[in-house]
Amino acid sequence: MLELRPSCEHCNTPLPPESPEARICSYECTFCATCVDTLLRNVCPNCGGGFVPRPVRPAKNWKDGNSLEKDPASTAVRHRPVDLEAHARFAAALQSIPAEKR
Ligand SMILES: [Zn+2]
Ligand SMILES: [Zn+2]
Repeated sequence: MLELRPSCEHCNTPLPPESPEARICSYECTFCATCVDTLLRNVCPNCGGGFVPRPVRPAKNWKDGNSLEKDPASTAVRHRPVDLEAHARFAAALQSIPAEKR
């Protein structure tokens, strides 16, 4: 199940489960839209993949108990600021390749 992490891994901006600003890579590395767009250039610093908007898990039980009530968001903060100089070198070769071709 998708781990809904509570904040941006780089800047620690809160990203509650309903946030439209949350972005994730396929490994669930979680960043805010501002960091993805302006600092990371859609290159995950941990895996090199691209990001997509994180889906919002329903707050209420609309069907079969599948909601935040049963499956709450994670509270484990993962704040590991990115080394931006190292990332610039890493992303230089990747940012011009569409994520689906990396
Ligand atoms: Zn951020
Ligand atoms: Zn990643």
